[in-house]
Amino acid sequence: MTELERYKYDVLVIGAGGAGLRAAVEAREAGLRVAIICKSLFGKAHTVMAEGGAAASMGNVNSGDNWQVHFRDTMRGGKFLNHYRMAELHAKESPDRIYELEMWGALFDRTKEGKISQRNFGGHEYPRLAHVGDRTGLELIRTMQQKIVQLQQKDAREYGDAQANIRVFAELTITEIIKEGGKVAGAYGYWREGGNEVLFEAPAVVIATGGVGKTFKITSNSWEGTGDGHALALKAGANLVDMEFLQFHPTGMVWPPSVRGILVTESVRGEGGVLTNTLGERFMFKYIPEVFKDKYADNEEEADRWYLDQDNNRRPPELLPRDEVARAINSEVKAGRGTEHGGVFLDVSKRIPAEVIKKRLPSMWHQFYELAGVDITKEAMEVGPTCHYVMGGVEVEPDTAAAVGVPGLFAAGEVAGGMHGSNRLGGNSLSDLLVFGRRAGMGAAAYVKSTTPVAVSDASVKAAADRIQAPFTRAGGENAYSLHQELQEVTHNLVGIIRTGSELQDAIGKIAEIRKRSQNVSVAGDRKFNPGFHLAFDLDNMLLVAESTAKSAIAREESRGGHTRDDFPGMSDKWRQVNHISSYNGSEVVVREQKLPALPKELFDLFDVHELEKYMTPEEIAKGGSN
Ligand SMILES: Cc1cc2nc3c(=O)[nH]c(=O)nc-3n(C[C@H](O)[C@H](O)[C@H](O)COP(=O)(O)OP(=O)(O)OC[C@H]3O[C@@H](n4cnc5c(N)ncnc54)[C@H](O)[C@@H]3O)c2cc1C
Repeated sequence: MTELERYKYDVLVIGAGGAGLRAAVEAREAGLRVAIICKSLFGKAHTVMAEGGAAASMGNVNSGDNWQVHFRDTMRGGKFLNHYRMAELHAKESPDRIYELEMWGALFDRTKEGKISQRNFGGHEYPRLAHVGDRTGLELIRTMQQKIVQLQQKDAREYGDAQANIRVFAELTITEIIKEGGKVAGAYGYWREGGNEVLFEAPAVVIATGGVGKTFKITSNSWEGTGDGHALALKAGANLVDMEFLQFHPTGMVWPPSVRGILVTESVRGEGGVLTNTLGERFMFKYIPEVFKDKYADNEEEADRWYLDQDNNRRPPELLPRDEVARAINSEVKAGRGTEHGGVFLDVSKRIPAEVIKKRLPSMWHQFYELAGVDITKEAMEVGPTCHYVMGGVEVEPDTAAAVGVPGLFAAGEVAGGMHGSNRLGGNSLSDLLVFGRRAGMGAAAYVKSTTPVAVSDASVKAAADRIQAPFTRAGGENAYSLHQELQEVTHNLVGIIRTGSELQDAIGKIAEIRKRSQNVSVAGDRKFNPGFHLAFDLDNMLLVAESTAKSAIAREESRGGHTRDDFPGMSDKWRQVNHISSYNGSEVVVREQKLPALPKELFDLFDVHELEKYMTPEEIAKGGSN
């Protein structure tokens, strides 16, 4: 083993997706020295896969849009379990973040008048998603990467060193957040290529590590989505909020098996795609929930007219929030009306001319043509639900993105919880990354300026190093790949789209058993180019995430958003007032209830009281907001 590499920074940002890069820019522009650390190559974070767009109420396509409408849609989508302050900041600030991105060079698609174009998406009342074809995430990352290079070029001119104040450490895995005297002192990890260990000392760490999809068997997430940040935060003493809420995107590819789970963007439905079962029925009309009946068309004629006249018709039910569409597809397949590969049909070819499909949905056309041999300009796609997004995440202070309970720790992007409540609207993640990435950078900068850094002790370094070496010291132990597969079977079968108390109990037992066996994982060979070595750490993270999800899910005895209980099918106004908080006691995840902050009067008054009656208790309604 070579000598330990050591670095000192003001702010460490773990993650180079949209949230991490936006946080890094903000902290650097506040005059601080910043390190960005990522598992993949710079520019390859999961965010590049985002397709449809970023939601912001700029009102470019329908001038009726504004932050209040966006706020209402977000709260409705989250079934009123969102942290109201996060939803408020997000709705108010996302237009500025989009214009800022444009100033930094993002080339958004345009309306005829030359404004940033905005497209329809499920759950959004107006066309709201700023987009770049169906490659919006790629453009977002490209633009912010360019911004970072620009900051580095400035440093090169000023200090003769491009990396003087902002440096990217790519292909490096962080395995631990280090605290000294109760506050953050740095982080520890290893270079993925050769395994050499690295210590970063810094008073502030921003976790921006993305999602947890790889905990599940079928997922749209990239290989990085192993819940590292969720687990790092838990182990550092932070809380996770509402981990029972996972979004199963209704439309992943179901065939061929090699591409199972890969996302079919919601834009396909936004552009007019229609869902049918094997009987040819446009089945979504059967699945419009009571709370959405006044907003969604209950017949094909009106649904079709909406594409031409959105002011005088209700939206097609294919554009219901994702949880509703995913459950509907699941029910059709279970009832024997699904395709032989366990999906349903999604067809855009009958509504839009081939050249328009290729222009508006180029990646989708390419993806199906290359991977499944299907020409979506002529034939229907076969689609089914795929684990897509985790609404639960690190509990943060909305204004600063500071992790509750751990001084110096911040979290933004998909790893943070609260913003989306029980279900995220499409497009609200990319804008979330920008709004709260910036706020995390600001929060970390303010914290660093107000605190004295503490040095990392030798004992902490030794403990972190021993943990990295541990799988190599055990011969003939458990295989990380087999355990990962076993975990994915458990989550898929027992903690998936539809849950029951007895299955969740079974899952909790099985996850504990796999976790026990995982303490004995051994890795063959050495550290160089060794994927088994990486998985040993990823597995530990995914097991903690799965435990938190299963324990939160069994505790929530209702169905809401991304959590459906067969044994408790309805929404309950008692449970709407409860967040589940997961913490780690050193051996297991413990879940407790916490009261959700009530809507303040000025936000309460944005809703029609009859709508609120569908979600809130008569006492809450009578109070009319918290102030
Ligand atoms: C196919 C697809 C399409 C989507 N389309 C849209 C869309 O159109 N609109 C929308 O709003 N949302 C969309 N989403 C959701 C959205 O893309 C994600 O929620 C978002 O990109 C997450 O960004 P992030 O910055 O939080 O993290 P990510 O982009 O996931 O980045 C995480 C970063 O953390 C790093 N990392 C993780 N663990 C470690 C570790 N231990 N050590 C060091 N580094 C680590 C990774 O290497 C990576 O750099 C889509 C998702 C998918 C899967």
